[in-house]
Amino acid sequence: MKVAVVGGGIVGLFAAYYLEKEGARVTVFDPEPPGLRSVHAAGIIEPSRAYRTNTFAFLRRVGRYVRQGTCTLRSVDPAWLVESARQLGRPPDPRAEETLLAMARTSVGAYEEFAARADDFGFAPRGLLETYDDPAHFEEEQAVALSRRSEVPVEPGHGPGAERSLFFPKVSWLHTERFVARILHELPTTVLDRRRVDAVGLDGTLVVGGSSTRFDVVVVASGVTSRRLGLPLTGVRGFGWHLRTHATVGTATILVDRGIALVPFEGELKATGGWDFDLSTGLGHAEAVLRAVKAAVPVEEVVDFNHGSRPCTPDGQPVAGRREALVVANGGFRLGWSFAPALGKEAARLAQGGADNDPFLARFCGQLHGGRFG
Ligand SMILES: Cc1cc2nc3c(=O)[nH]c(=O)nc-3n(C[C@H](O)[C@H](O)[C@H](O)COP(=O)(O)OP(=O)(O)OC[C@H]3O[C@@H](n4cnc5c(N)ncnc54)[C@H](O)[C@@H]3O)c2cc1C
Repeated sequence: MKVAVVGGGIVGLFAAYYLEKEGARVTVFDPEPPGLRSVHAAGIIEPSRAYRTNTFAFLRRVGRYVRQGTCTLRSVDPAWLVESARQLGRPPDPRAEETLLAMARTSVGAYEEFAARADDFGFAPRGLLETYDDPAHFEEEQAVALSRRSEVPVEPGHGPGAERSLFFPKVSWLHTERFVARILHELPTTVLDRRRVDAVGLDGTLVVGGSSTRFDVVVVASGVTSRRLGLPLTGVRGFGWHLRTHATVGTATILVDRGIALVPFEGELKATGGWDFDLSTGLGHAEAVLRAVKAAVPVEEVVDFNHGSRPCTPDGQPVAGRREALVVANGGFRLGWSFAPALGKEAARLAQGGADNDPFLARFCGQLHGGRFG
């Protein structure tokens, strides 16, 4: 079977990985180096901690980030906005929980299996600390965390002077750049084509550089640009830096009310932040976010910088579905790395035509169509 994967972000790379394992001839199209638009992420693997965005609690969280200066509201996808407004305050989809739990198990299992074969990507199952500035927000999140402690163990008030903190001992993290290098090693037959795809068709047609080619299946894992194919999806941009600091950060830490994550590696710290509802690729807000990082931790040297987007559905949860010869895998939002193995595996399953769409995962795929990426 001949499959094109549009987008070599973390979801596209996992889709290629599972397709290649099943014997497909895979070509990944992306004008950027593979993984480049995904590596800004903190790399915290916490799929069991997904939350919905169509809630008033999420709107309050966004309001806090705006006040803190780490969030800006610039542009959103109109179809996403309409659907998000329609869904606001609705109870969770009853099909979601079981599907997301199964995806969480698949994803964590995949990273563990990669690490068991060779841990060359800094995989650290040492737990995640969340700290809060706002007492009311902490009380709210602590109640949610305690109600789910049988699925996701949590220890409130972990560490000295950390009365407004939650520690999740089972959460792990990884070095995103090293993981991309690793997965590329595991794609010996996949062809990486550094061109942008102009358009796709429901019949498996792909238009690149003015000429069209036919594939058995096209998997679209292009992040926010797949909104052009009828998915209600918007992008929430953010930034990541590798830093040198003398500060000791013992475990992955999220400063929740500031929208900043700090992840320690030997000799360096990864810092991420920024919640910009923005469909452009602008970097205008990165300096302000770096100032917020510097207010949280002393920075001696900025080693490198990257940026990317959280592809967000109207409920903030992942989406995967097939229509004719077109498959989409997307919507990882703030947990794109955490769900990427499961999304990639689902895309490969759908591409092989082995089973029907999962009713929950395909909930936004009814209007899927071919077309130009814009
Ligand atoms: C600051 C920040 C921190 C984060 N931290 C975490 C974290 O700790 N843990 C976690 O699980 N997640 C995290 N995320 C979320 C995660 O980074 C994203 O959800 C993830 O990168 C999405 O992956 P993707 O492959 O779906 O899309 P993308 O990473 O956006 O990749 C899409 C790819 O498609 C390509 N593309 C687009 N259009 C075309 C076209 N027409 N033709 C060919 N190629 C195309 C792009 O160049 C890109 O390479 C974070 C996000 C941000 C912003």
